[in-house]
Amino acid sequence: MRKIFISILLIFTACTRLVSFPGGTPQASPVASTTFSVDIHPDGPRYVGDQISFEVFSPTLFETSQKTISISFAGKPLAEKSFEQHAIGQRKQATFPWVWNTSGLSAGDYTLNFALLPDGIRWEEKVTLRPASELPAAEKNAHWETTETTCCIIHTISGTDAANDITPLKEMVDAQAADVESRMGTHLTDKIPITFLPRTIGHGGFTSDAIYVTYMHKNYAGGTTLQVTHHEMVHWVDGKLGSAGFRPTILQEGLAVYLSNGHFKVEPIVPRGAAILELGWYIPLSKLADSFYFSQHETSYTEAAALISYMVKTYGWENFNSFYRDIHPAQDGSDAKALDNALQIHFSISLDTLEQNYLAFLRNQTGDNTAQTDMRLTVAFYDTVRRYQMKLDPSAYFLNAWLPDAPSMRQRGIVTDFLRHPDTGINRQIEALLVSGDANLRSGNYPLTEVYIRAANLLLDVYERIDSQTWRGKKSPVP
Ligand SMILES: [Zn+2]
Repeated sequence: MRKIFISILLIFTACTRLVSFPGGTPQASPVASTTFSVDIHPDGPRYVGDQISFEVFSPTLFETSQKTISISFAGKPLAEKSFEQHAIGQRKQATFPWVWNTSGLSAGDYTLNFALLPDGIRWEEKVTLRPASELPAAEKNAHWETTETTCCIIHTISGTDAANDITPLKEMVDAQAADVESRMGTHLTDKIPITFLPRTIGHGGFTSDAIYVTYMHKNYAGGTTLQVTHHEMVHWVDGKLGSAGFRPTILQEGLAVYLSNGHFKVEPIVPRGAAILELGWYIPLSKLADSFYFSQHETSYTEAAALISYMVKTYGWENFNSFYRDIHPAQDGSDAKALDNALQIHFSISLDTLEQNYLAFLRNQTGDNTAQTDMRLTVAFYDTVRRYQMKLDPSAYFLNAWLPDAPSMRQRGIVTDFLRHPDTGINRQIEALLVSGDANLRSGNYPLTEVYIRAANLLLDVYERIDSQTWRGKKSPVP
């Protein structure tokens, strides 16, 4: 279980990341609290038969070393866990996957007891279980299905859009894998495990020891399946090709975008890199290298991809690839320093010199108003997606996403963590606006794109004013 949470740290992808920015938009942060708090999974109503998970968050600055959280039910302990840093956001939490099996219980209200050990702080959480007979139709008899193609082993959940569209999806993954093999000059010997998720998580894709891609006819994080699949496959093959010891995130993600001809869609990478500079959003390379996932997401990925474009154009693919696969960790642990060392060895230049040359290259590009408008609205759209996730779909927010281990889910026959998500009226309204905004952005109708983005943010403003307190669950006593 924990393995996947950690490995996901490595490559979240086309991925997934951040809310904020070089220049000043609000930075995402772990839960800021003065009390312990608890998230309960799966999201939404719970039903008899659910296998329920808990995430317990410590108060800000609370010292958690040598401390554990214990959960018990009906006088019997369910599990005891220590605090660990979780996922990309490094949120400190105790994680309890599927510790409460509600099979055999009656519908009704239940109390679970939480305790911080050894201090003895204790509190309760209430969970309501609905009758299993009231399960949504899509969940009754839902089960995992697996099929193989030339390139891949595909996992889906029955009745979902992916399961219903499995024939074209099989053709799609084979075509994307063949393209990635061709562009990376290799041939896959192992089949790629791909799980198509019926739920938006992060920006729609990630790679760990397998590939996970959201596939929904209405994905509020954008209609990105083909592009994200290609991006994740680049990560997969990139990892298989290996390196001398260290592949900086800025180059891993830049390469995935560069070799996919775009981030969330096929798009002109260098003009978009120049647009970032013109918009005043350029992130200095040393800062970007050392805090990639904590810099503005779309700017980071595009700037990194344009850097790869520049380096390949300047030094040639073979020389770039030799450099990329011969980077060693720096003594101070800095990605920027590791890059600087390898640049000196392979190209006799410093990171500062590379940056000056790269900036001159970007300034020489002809101004592209469409690229600038598209880049600006892409950032605005995904900022809105992440704002929505943080407020109303927190399990999907990439820094702290709830990403249970899919092989374990298949082994245990669990589908609910990927099938349920918050589905209140305001969820449906904002998601519909985001789906429309994405469709207009893709078709180049920028004025209408802006209208939908503004409408979604207006609803989020209203939500924040009316109710900003209750979403994350009940608070425990202050220790
Ligand atoms: Zn990626």
